[in-house]
Amino acid sequence: MPGPDGKLTQEDIAKVQAWMFKYKMGNHPCPICDSIQWTIGEYVVHPTTQGNPQLFPNLPIYPNVILLSPCGYTRNVNAVMIGIAPAYRV
Ligand SMILES: [Zn+2]
Repeated sequence: MPGPDGKLTQEDIAKVQAWMFKYKMGNHPCPICDSIQWTIGEYVVHPTTQGNPQLFPNLPIYPNVILLSPCGYTRNVNAVMIGIAPAYRV
């Protein structure tokens, strides 16, 4: 599980790499530059709903691992489904 700052541990990175191998990321080139060199982002990120968190403090968040292409194109993968982050609310 990522640290309190959201940074992936070596164990997390191994799980992401296993996911990338399972789903053959090398067969899924970047739609912009055609590179198959995906870099794992260091931190879990949290896209959230559009609702105002001050008015609705229990809005769901969606922990994601990001995979970066050399051109900057970014893919988000659900960190809960990879098994590195718990499902929780803020
Ligand atoms: Zn690219």
